[in-house]
Amino acid sequence: MMETGCVFCAIIKGDAPAEIVYEDEVTLAFMDIHPAAQGHTLVIPKEHFRRRGSPSGHG
Ligand SMILES: [Zn+2]
Repeated sequence: MMETGCVFCAIIKGDAPAEIVYEDEVTLAFMDIHPAAQGHTLVIPKEHFRRRGSPSGHG
């Protein structure tokens, strides 16, 4: 599920620029465009929405 206005979903879709360093079916890792520190990498689940009791989802 994708959600409009979510920068993570935009990166997953390829609509927002990101330096992707790792990707699989459920996970995406990329270099932060505005890094807090050099080499700052974010690892997020691809699912946007949260389900109660589920750890998956970055939303
Ligand atoms: Zn999202």
